[in-house]
Amino acid sequence: GVGLSARDMPEWKKNAYGKAFTFGQRSKLSIQEQRRSLPIFKLKNELIQAVHDNQVLILIGETGSGKTTQLAQYLAEAGYTTKGKIGCTQPRRVAATSVAKRVAEEFGCRLGEEVGYAIRFEDCTGPDTLIKYMTDGMLLREILIDENLSQYSVIMLDEAHERTINTDVLFGLLKQLVKRRPDLRLIVTSATLDAERFSGYFFNCNIFSIPGRTFPVDINYSRQEVTDYLDSALITVLQIHVDEPEGDILLFLTGQEEIDFACESLCEKIKALGKDVPELVVLPVYSALPSEIQSRIFEPAPPGGRKVVVATNIAEASLTIDGIFYVIDPGFAKQNVYNPKQRLDSLVITPISQASALQRAGRAGRTGPGKCYRLYTESAYRSEMSPTTIPEIQRINLVHTTLTMKAMGINNLLSFDFVDPPSPQALISAMEQLYSLGALDEEGLLTKLGKKMAEFPLDPPLSKMLLASVDLGCSDEILTIIAMIQTGHIFTRPREKQAKADEKRARFFQPEGDHLTLLAVYEAWKAKNFSLPWCAENFVNSRSLKKAQDVRKQLLAIMDKYKLGVVSAGKDFLKIRKAITSGFFFNAARKDPQEGYRTLVENQPVYIHPSSALFQRQPDWVIYNELVMTTREYMREVIAIDPRWLADLAPKFFKVADPTKISKRKRQECIEPLYDRYHEPNSWRLSKRRA
Ligand code: ADP
Ligand code: MG
Repeated sequence: GVGLSARDMPEWKKNAYGKAFTFGQRSKLSIQEQRRSLPIFKLKNELIQAVHDNQVLILIGETGSGKTTQLAQYLAEAGYTTKGKIGCTQPRRVAATSVAKRVAEEFGCRLGEEVGYAIRFEDCTGPDTLIKYMTDGMLLREILIDENLSQYSVIMLDEAHERTINTDVLFGLLKQLVKRRPDLRLIVTSATLDAERFSGYFFNCNIFSIPGRTFPVDINYSRQEVTDYLDSALITVLQIHVDEPEGDILLFLTGQEEIDFACESLCEKIKALGKDVPELVVLPVYSALPSEIQSRIFEPAPPGGRKVVVATNIAEASLTIDGIFYVIDPGFAKQNVYNPKQRLDSLVITPISQASALQRAGRAGRTGPGKCYRLYTESAYRSEMSPTTIPEIQRINLVHTTLTMKAMGINNLLSFDFVDPPSPQALISAMEQLYSLGALDEEGLLTKLGKKMAEFPLDPPLSKMLLASVDLGCSDEILTIIAMIQTGHIFTRPREKQAKADEKRARFFQPEGDHLTLLAVYEAWKAKNFSLPWCAENFVNSRSLKKAQDVRKQLLAIMDKYKLGVVSAGKDFLKIRKAITSGFFFNAARKDPQEGYRTLVENQPVYIHPSSALFQRQPDWVIYNELVMTTREYMREVIAIDPRWLADLAPKFFKVADPTKISKRKRQECIEPLYDRYHEPNSWRLSKRRA
């Protein structure tokens, strides 16, 4: 537990804050005054001129200098929107929506009018939109539809140093596009560290630098190694709150669960400290949080009090929060990492890089001299943390990106002009998976099915499952299942009512598996006319269900556009299970005679998650939606299948074992599909012909 109790607390001095008020820039400035006070404002004319004179420009400047919110507005004022829109990409959904909201306010319009945003499954733009914030993934989809991006006069690739896979692909595509469209302007914003590299990549273009307005940050390392960073982080928050002069706190944690837990415990602990301790406003920030709650982080702390923002990596660079004087950095972040054995990406808590640590510390020095508490030792920083983060393209599954690029007509991915190319093995493995799904042919070219799959903003196994459901006659149900899976967080389980919640949840259980449970929940909700009280009664997250309803609508619109039939299977769940199999056959697992299951592809030991409807039944063959690693590798969203379907529905991946080639003992057991091991990556035809 936390070693801080009311008894150990230093006596609280009411005037402890007084001395620090000099830099407490708790601004009561009007929104226009705020705009004029930003470092970028003095350079407005130079910047407009630089964009005029340089087709491609790298822009660097401290976080908070006004790049994201101001530049697009300056260019709109300068007339760039008369010829087209200004598009600005963000690696993160939250950043796209929150920045758009702010800019609409500054611009004086409603969100979705002159200023709007687009993220997957959410388009908040209209016919009047001039400035459009969007995720980099959305711009990639727009290029798929119009390779010249003819609606745009300016593209800003923001936060390019984050090196998301989509931004990296956009780099290559826009490098070609600026040659075709001399009128298009491209601005790449980046951290100082990468500016030279990016300039070199874009024809040695100019770098425009906004002089920083930063204050020194005092860095404190932990003296010994920290065993429980969450616990230490909470103690540090409280210590700062009681000991240090005024100024808000930013604590970096890795994800929603950790953050929710931290916020709850902080509130409890503050209460326990009694009335003499000033108010501490605790604010969580992560991407799944509703935006109304998120925008509270920008509100100043109450007079005499202090706020602590507990955030994921989002707050490292994409969101600027004023008034932060203290940063607590445990040194970890969740990263998407590809596990080639499971052919899956998973979010793994990993140590951050030195570059990230520097960036985090910098957040304390925006308003005045700040302090950063690193919950790791100085020697760990120097010897164990890598200097920079590996770009996403070199660590995640390339299946989706490969399909998108193939659909853009880029056939030779191995020679595409990437800033940092992925490994050829990773590309070939992605192509193999697309081949198994039927999206590529033997030559590595896009099939008709692959072309249709690329139309959906879904991972290829999901889009395959959806298209298969059209043929199988169950697309109505599969649409719902996909929407529910994409949304996630369907069930709620409040700590004090777990038993009740589990009981309610079990009422939806379907004997064939969890995908059908999700379907049953949605159908029951629909039967109650999408009632909100019904959600609360049944421990179902109403926000998630509404989101799922929305996702479903948008997928339906794409189905209609391409005249794909929406057919209900009625009570025929067999069809639904087959459709799932045709997309997720990579994730087949078979009961292990000893204990649990083994995956077919890599023979890995895995287990059915205790929350699954199949946990009791443990059928012989299953397909899972994803694996989560806790104490062991658990399969989540599991469905029972018939192994014969594997060979039928994924003939390029599974074949029925040749009875003459297997041992007598095996033959007596049964004849069953075998994972076809001839698919050694380097032996695949494509690698020879196209590499
Ligand atoms: P940069 O892109 O250079 O990091 P931004 O343009 O994102 O800087 O931010 C400039 C300033 O705008 C920040 O210092 C902050 O005060 C303000 N700001 C940005 N987003 C919001 C928001 N959603 N609400 C209130 N203020 C914001
Ligand atoms: Mg920015």
